[in-house]
This record gives sequence, structure tokens and C-alpha cells, in this order.
Amino acid sequence: MRRIILKNGRIFDGSGSASFTGSVLIEGDRIAQVGRGNEGLIGAGDAEIVDCAGATVMPGMIEAHGHLTWPSSTERFEPRFMLPPEEMMLAAARNGRILLDHGFTSVFSAGALGERIEVVLRDEFARGALPGPRLLASTIERSPEGAEGIETGKKLSIGEGPEAMRAFVTRCHELGIDTVKLVLSGEDQLLPGSSQHILYHEDEVTAACETAHKLGMRVAAHTQAAEAVKIALRSGVDILYHCTHADAEALDMLAAHKDRIFMAPAVGVLVGTMEATPPPHIDMSSMKAFAAPAIEMSQALVPELKRRGVRVLPGGDYGFPFNPNGANARDLQHFVDLYGYTPAEALSAATMLGGQIMGMGGELGLVRPGYIADLLIVDGDPTANVAILQDKANLRGIMQAGSFYKTPAPVASCFGVA
Ligand SMILES: [Zn+2]
Repeated sequence: MRRIILKNGRIFDGSGSASFTGSVLIEGDRIAQVGRGNEGLIGAGDAEIVDCAGATVMPGMIEAHGHLTWPSSTERFEPRFMLPPEEMMLAAARNGRILLDHGFTSVFSAGALGERIEVVLRDEFARGALPGPRLLASTIERSPEGAEGIETGKKLSIGEGPEAMRAFVTRCHELGIDTVKLVLSGEDQLLPGSSQHILYHEDEVTAACETAHKLGMRVAAHTQAAEAVKIALRSGVDILYHCTHADAEALDMLAAHKDRIFMAPAVGVLVGTMEATPPPHIDMSSMKAFAAPAIEMSQALVPELKRRGVRVLPGGDYGFPFNPNGANARDLQHFVDLYGYTPAEALSAATMLGGQIMGMGGELGLVRPGYIADLLIVDGDPTANVAILQDKANLRGIMQAGSFYKTPAPVASCFGVA
């Protein structure tokens, strides 16, 4: 079994507690030991040593609202949203590699633009055939047939009502999908005023959640209107995105479900919208007009949810030309700048809580013995300045399940450990 010691690094373990200088022993795909200071790691005599002086060893980041099929990335501007299937497949594979290059070792998908595309990619990434993150594969973002608003490509034609929803989720399970994405409310950014439109009946959402949970799947929902948040919570939805218009009752309900649910405001896309300088033939004035108050509302909501113990995660709808895949670490800085998080709190949300949203909280997202060795070796100290994670040049090493995807130089074999 391959054994690697990451030595002399500043260890940020993901829990949010203070970093310390120490060593991490990795055996196979797992973290075996974590030692403080110069204390020896027992039985580590024949391990390869990686000197991490000047660097921080931390868990790989986890994107809580990923869209690998959304085509634009830091490497490739793509003015179209829906690509033909061949281009889409390649763009999604490329985006997986780009997220990994930028330190995201896991992605919880918030929706795909094709039925099986993420299932195929997940399996290719998992067996190392293509470089990419650990991925939970989603469905096409599903709004009811005939609903206006979000154009998400061809969807499974299933009709309406609870039975249809059960059939839909069952079909998704047969396709190998991990998580169902329902568009419970419209979206002002795409159709002005539609954030207040409720697109599903509550019994439909309940049927989808019951079936998904029975089959070991989870349900994520696009929820903007307060009523959409409430329907989601009453129905058993596991992951709520946006929640921009949550009122006091919705907030209380979110807090009451805090041990079961996850929330991600997806603020990155809003900041990207405000910063965008589109060419003259693209009119983003309406999007900007809705984004500004949405950011303000989230600034009231997120700190209160955090205060009340709700698990709020970074992850911000990356994949648009003005908010490209690969820029995902910007969300951590947004949590600091907009929501008053300390860098360590933002990092903990992107790692420890990330492991939990992946459904692997007992083995992913922390630098702890027994955990999967998905690790970053970062030049500098992201707990002092979380923005350094936005530059992939600062990622000295990227490890997936105990193997280096990006190898820090030099890796030397030696005997004896200080
Ligand atoms: Zn999204």
C-alpha cells in the first residue's frame, strides 16, 4: 500500500478550528494519522515524504451547486447555453477537469442539461478514466411540462400529478442518477417576476421526495418564493437553493429542519451578473435590476441562517460566460465579503459541510484519520486570505483518494520521520 507523509504543513482540518503545524500520513486512499508539531507518525518509516513548509494542507473544496454541463469556463467562453449533444458532452468533461484543476475534488450537481450525461461522467471520473471531481449526478432541472421560465432542454415527458412524479423519479433511478432537481419556483433572472410563481403542487413534490428517499436518492430544489421554500420543507426536499424571498415563517422552518437540510444561496451568479459587461447586443439590465436586491436579501438571510445553525454552503451557479466554471472559489470570498464569514468559516462550509452534502460526512471533508484523502496543498494561508484559492497556481498539490492529481515537486522517498 502506498504511504505518503505531508510534512511541515499548516493543517486546516476543515472543522473550522485553528490551523496547526503538523504532518498527515496517508495510507492507500485514506488519511491514517494526523500529528501535531514535529511528533513522529507511528509506523510511517517507509513513506514518501512531501515537505509542505509554507503551505496549508486542507480538504479538497466541494462545490454544492455545480453545473458541469453549463458550457462557459475560465478556459472557454461559450455564448450559447444549450450546446449540441456532442459539444455538451465534451464541455462537461472539460469542466470537470477544470473544477479539479481549481481545487474542487467533489461536486454536488444542481442540474444537468442532459439525462445521462452526468451519470456517465461520474463513472468516468470515479474510475480515473477522465480527470474530474467526485460527482453526484443530477437530473435535468425539472419544471412541470408547459411551465414558463427556465429552459433546461428536453425533459422526460411524464405528465403531471403525484403518480407522474413517482414515475419520473423511478426512471431517474433506473438511469443511475443520484439527485433529483426540481424547479419549484420561477426565476426573476430568466423571466422577470417569475420568482413568485409556484410551479409544482405540494403533493407532487411530496411524491417525488418519498420515492427518491425510498430509492436512496436525494431531492434538490430551486426555491425563490417564500411559499416555494415552505413547500420544499414540508415535502421533504433535502437541498434548498437560493431561498431569496424567504419570510420569517420560512426562516423558522429552515431552522427547524437544520439537521436534515442544506441550503446554498448561489450568490456567485448574482455577483457575476452585477459585474458583467456584456456586448451591446446582450441586454442584462433586467437581470442586474433583479440581482442587486437579491444580493441584499441574501445578506439578511444567510447570516441569520448561519446563526441558527442551518448548514449554508458556497456554490454559485457557475457556467455562464459572466460566471464561468473554474471561478467557483470566488463563492468563498463572497461569503466573507457579503455574509460576514471568517475565511475559516467559509472554508469549513466548503469542506466539512461539503462532505455532508455529498452524503459522506463521516469520511469526506475533514483532515482526520479514517477520512478519504481528498486534499489540497495550498501555497500560503487561506484562513488569512481565502482569495488565494482563486488562483490555481497557488495549488501546489491536489490529491484525490490518496493519489496526486497534481504532484507537488519534489516527492522523495526516505527513511525515518522527524
Ligand atoms: Zn443552478
